[in-house]
Amino acid sequence: MPPSFKYVILGGGVAAGYAAWEFVLSGLRPGELAIISKEQVAPYERPALSKGYLNPEGPARLPGFHTCVNMGGPAERHGPEWYAQHGITLMLQTEVIGGDLSKKELLTKSKDIIKFEKLIIATGSTAMKLTDFKVPNSDARGIYYLREEADAAILDKAVKKAKGKNAVVLGGGYIGLEIGAALVINGVQTTIVFPEPHCLRRVFTPEIAAVYQTHYDGKGVKFIQAAVVGFVVDNSLNVTGVKLKDGSSLPAAMVVVGVGARPCSYLFPKQLAIEQGGYKVNGRLETSLPDVYAVGDVATFPIKLYGNEMQLQGHVRHARMSGKYVVQSIRAQEECRVIDDYDYVPYFYSRMLDMRWQFFGKNVGDCVVWGLANVTPAGGKFGAYWVMDGKVVGAFLESGSTDEYEALSRLIREQPQVTDLKKLEEDGICFALTVASPQVVR
Ligand SMILES: Cc1cc2nc3c(=O)[nH]c(=O)nc-3n(C[C@H](O)[C@H](O)[C@H](O)COP(=O)(O)OP(=O)(O)OC[C@H]3O[C@@H](n4cnc5c(N)ncnc54)[C@H](O)[C@@H]3O)c2cc1C
Repeated sequence: MPPSFKYVILGGGVAAGYAAWEFVLSGLRPGELAIISKEQVAPYERPALSKGYLNPEGPARLPGFHTCVNMGGPAERHGPEWYAQHGITLMLQTEVIGGDLSKKELLTKSKDIIKFEKLIIATGSTAMKLTDFKVPNSDARGIYYLREEADAAILDKAVKKAKGKNAVVLGGGYIGLEIGAALVINGVQTTIVFPEPHCLRRVFTPEIAAVYQTHYDGKGVKFIQAAVVGFVVDNSLNVTGVKLKDGSSLPAAMVVVGVGARPCSYLFPKQLAIEQGGYKVNGRLETSLPDVYAVGDVATFPIKLYGNEMQLQGHVRHARMSGKYVVQSIRAQEECRVIDDYDYVPYFYSRMLDMRWQFFGKNVGDCVVWGLANVTPAGGKFGAYWVMDGKVVGAFLESGSTDEYEALSRLIREQPQVTDLKKLEEDGICFALTVASPQVVR
């Protein structure tokens, strides 16, 4: 008889860890839940991989960053023993390759069947590979990607070996910038290459980007705006350089690629509705099939604040919140209760060298950047608001305090009216601190 569980979580990342925690809080019985993950470790806080994990001194290592340490504190750091203690079956190094969801069956790579009554799909995203785009020599040794803990362990070794040598990071998004920061603090001569006019184009305006690029420059990181067309390799197929479109090349003892990620939504073709590349779910995170839910990076879900506009959100706070919410949704259904729909305000953060920022809402409409005069080579507090149809719909803040970030998050829920953009610029963070009402919950 194939193993059978009341609840199965497919994927063992951030959302899975938070969902398991919520199951336990809501009275899970031993033997009811299984988590299936192709990784070899229990769920952990993935953002640590491009931050503390690569630190030259006192690096973050498991079990230090197992979920749910970021929202529950050290008492909620759940290593494998926590799962055993609560009777949760952790099936690690187990890859699911498909299944028949109408029969409530999953199929693993080793051809085992696992049955479920309710399934939560939490397969996250996968890093986009240059080999998929057939970039010449992109299969050379010395080209790295970062998505899972096993990748981070390999990358960390390569970084230590590359001390004093040249490395190229491809991609000007947050992964590229965070990895670039990690390389330079490890003494690697780092160049970040991307084709867009400035870094983090999806969030930053040119002025905001200039602050970070200047800061990186001061730490010795070079930025090159260029398209990469291939890699230079030696006779043993080790990478030795990166070829640019203008015919030049950059020397590289190692290359790290951070050019984006795509949702892992390919396991059940034609069985579940797909939208924007993710599994389409409703406000209770239910997919198009009964008893099958999707959470985290792989779910395309309605954002209440934007009139149920469907969005994918590849960010950790959504993974945590949707992991917890889906269990509340399942419990409510079992107890014939009605709960409010999932209500997520887009949010994202990053830490880069000694700078740290948070972004809330949407970066559309007019952008008002404030506080740039405060910025010195050592950093400083500054931010931005985005105003659309007279309402503040987006906010960004570098080097804020907890209270200031809380105020911004409330502000974006309230979307207050503004008419005078000049005054908004002068008021800076004081606008959020005075306008956002303390009662609104983040
Ligand atoms: C290096 C890095 C840094 C990041 N930093 C930030 C940050 O600073 N801020 C931020 O907001 N977000 C950040 N993110 C994004 C954030 O980590 C993700 O949004 C979050 O992890 C998504 O959680 P998830 O549970 O949906 O997916 P994941 O955490 O990716 O977990 C998915 C799990 O499913 C498993 N899986 C996939 N397919 C299968 C299969 N077929 N069979 C079995 N198991 C499978 C995977 O192995 C993995 O364990 C970062 C991501 C990375 C990679």
